[in-house]
This record gives sequence, C-alpha cells and structure tokens, in this order.
Amino acid sequence: MINNNHFEKSNFRILIEKDNIGRMEERLNIIDTFLDIEEHVTLDDMMQLLKKAGYDYQPDFVRQCLNRFVEHGFAQKKAFEGQSPRYEHHHLGKHHDHLICTKCGNILEFDNDDMERLQLKIASNLGFHMLQHKMEIYGLCSGCMAERHPLMPLVMAKSGENVVIKDITGGRTVRNRLASMGLRSGDSLEIINNNGQGRLIVGHGSTRLAMGRGVAQKIMVSLDRQNTQSA
Ligand SMILES: [Zn+2]
Ligand SMILES: [Zn+2]
Ligand SMILES: [Zn+2]
Repeated sequence: MINNNHFEKSNFRILIEKDNIGRMEERLNIIDTFLDIEEHVTLDDMMQLLKKAGYDYQPDFVRQCLNRFVEHGFAQKKAFEGQSPRYEHHHLGKHHDHLICTKCGNILEFDNDDMERLQLKIASNLGFHMLQHKMEIYGLCSGCMAERHPLMPLVMAKSGENVVIKDITGGRTVRNRLASMGLRSGDSLEIINNNGQGRLIVGHGSTRLAMGRGVAQKIMVSLDRQNTQSA
C-alpha cells in the first residue's frame, strides 16, 4: 500500500506541477494524509486527520485541494443523502457501490459482477449507452438493527420502511383519533417521510396520512415481513 501511495503521490505531483498553482508541499501533505486512509471522509474528517498529522490549514484550502484530487482522478466525491459530501480514493480500474445506514451513517461497500452486468444489459436493451452509475442502498446496518426491538413505536420507523400496527397504547383520545383516520391493529403502513422532527407522512392503503409525533409514539409497530424486501 505504501508503495502504491508513493506512486499516486508522485503521479499527482507531475500533474499539478504543470498547473503551476503554488503551495505544492502543502498540497502534497494533504494528498499524503488522504491516501493514508481508506474511509469515506468529510471535509471535517480531513481537517481532524490533518491536525493529528501536525498540519494546520484553512478548511477552504483543504476543500479546494480535495476537489482538485477529484478533478485529477485521485479521489471521488460522494453525496450520500442526509450527509455532508464525502471523499474516497479513486482506485483506477476498480468500481464499487455503497450501502448507507440512515441511523448511524455507517457506509459499507460492495461490488457484484452480476449486478454490474445487469445494469449494462438494462441500459443497452433500451438502446442506451451507459457511461457511469451509482448504486446507493439506504437502510440500517447490522449494529443498528441489533439495537432495535422487534416491537417499536411508529415514531422510530424509518422513511421507506413497511410496518404493521401491533398495538395502540394511548388512551381513548388517541384511539378515537386513529379510528377516525381508519387505522387499526393489523394494518400495514408505509413510512413515506419521517425525518426525525415534525409530522410523519405514512401511506395507508391508497391514502397518505399526516400524523403528529405524539400520536406516532403511541402506535406500536413491527416490521412488515411481507413487504420488506430484505426479509
Ligand atoms: Zn456499480
Ligand atoms: Zn447503523
Ligand atoms: Zn466507497
């Protein structure tokens, strides 16, 4: 790995020497620090890594350097939903895709030849010449799933999840309110939007319902195995 990093670094030096943009040593220190890790780092992560390595640069300069790494093919910039932009290595000739945990932000990588071939085939069947793609799967990582109880208040369910109502724990007011919405035990719900604050939007049959967090706290649900692809 060290040798490889060394090669990448000198490759970068050759490319940017031609650009004549100055601050060469500082740029090389930043790429060195970046090449040393194999994570998907945000600008903040990079600032911390640089600080640890004894470098003190302005965030704007670091961002500009990272974007230059992207431009020159040493880094890739990823915009995962709900997260700050992240940078990772651009390994030539290697492609991978991502699973992103919407709870803890954990990022897993995978590559699957069958899936890659299938995507090319789908595109070409439509007469489409594919240039690039990104496959991002959002969900909960195994750690976050392990912390979850099989029975949880609806307010804890994540956007995109399918759940079944198991119990309604509130008093008569809540029960009446839910009954007026047509919700009862055993019903399936699709969480359309639950962003951690404000009302939830859920799909119930062919209707979309808006529900306060207080009410959603009183509805106990479990995962709907029939409508959950990963089950
Ligand atoms: Zn892919
Ligand atoms: Zn997680
Ligand atoms: Zn990656």
